Amino acid sequence: MQIIDGKAVADEIKKEIALEVAEIKASGGKTPHLVAILVGNNGASETYVANKVKSCEELGFNSTLLRFDPSITEAELLAEVQKVNDNEDMDGLIVQLPLPNHINPDKVMETIAPSKDVDGFHPINIGRMAKGLPAYISATPQGVLDLLEYYNIETSGKHCVVVGRSQIVGLPMSILMQRNNKIGNCTVTLTHSKTKDLPAVCASADILIAALGRPEFITAEYVKDGAVVIDVGLTRVEDATKKSGFALKGDVKFDEVAPKCSFITPVPKGVGPMTIVSLMKNTLLSAKKVIYQ
Ligand code: NAP
Repeated sequence: MQIIDGKAVADEIKKEIALEVAEIKASGGKTPHLVAILVGNNGASETYVANKVKSCEELGFNSTLLRFDPSITEAELLAEVQKVNDNEDMDGLIVQLPLPNHINPDKVMETIAPSKDVDGFHPINIGRMAKGLPAYISATPQGVLDLLEYYNIETSGKHCVVVGRSQIVGLPMSILMQRNNKIGNCTVTLTHSKTKDLPAVCASADILIAALGRPEFITAEYVKDGAVVIDVGLTRVEDATKKSGFALKGDVKFDEVAPKCSFITPVPKGVGPMTIVSLMKNTLLSAKKVIYQ
């Protein structure tokens, strides 16, 4: 069994990006600029956005954090998104979810210019990704692909089961794993809360990707001997022994599942660090105008 060290892979890719950005700056090129919009003060969202801003600093990107009170109206927020769309210096825009209930996240995502949608949530980017056209690919699924590639994990012809069909993780993950690409060519089963006999379906997977947001839900009975298990789940659970008062839990019960696997991602330091790296890669692509002119 090999533990997939997402933190180490992410650190290596970050170094490469930082080097490239330094070269771009030295030759008078465009410094990548990521903008994050944060509405309200949800604790987890604060942490995620702070980590993204910190990564920008580490890699030599410019960053702008736009904070808004939760009372901001949908129309006002859409106008703020439009301002970023119109600002030529700003290459990428992320709007941290969740948003307050009175704001429709789909409307917000659809207002972000596809060329600045470095989270890859805009329907145009999802559609282009599904067709295999150049697109910003949603950061977490891209991070999973990069980990599979880094560890030379064979995917072609394998049965991949994805648990969870969210638009930001499960659905794009399932599309990417079936594409005719180096990492791809799987026979994919996409499962969700209505799937019958989930343990048996999961236990038929060569590659099991858990993205359901239920801490330690995937136990040993869900996993075939020798399977590759990718744990996307990241849930804060109360833990009085921690200074922060909470611990981060994945969707996989690591201790009992790991001994059955050929490869497994831990939580933390598995998929999580790769998500931020993918976002940075997309922002760099935007500054270089690789996907859209
Ligand atoms: P989500 O939008 O809540 O979607 C969860 C999906 O899981 C839904 O499709 C749901 O099915 C399915 N599901 C829930 N309970 C299930 C069950 N008992 N059996 C089978 N399927 C079930 O969640 P998400 O945004 O995709 O996030 C999933 C997890 O990944 C969360 O823990 C999140 O924090 C984590 N995440 C991590 C990163 C990272 O960087 N590591 C990034 C993004 C998300 P239905 O559609 O039928 O309701």
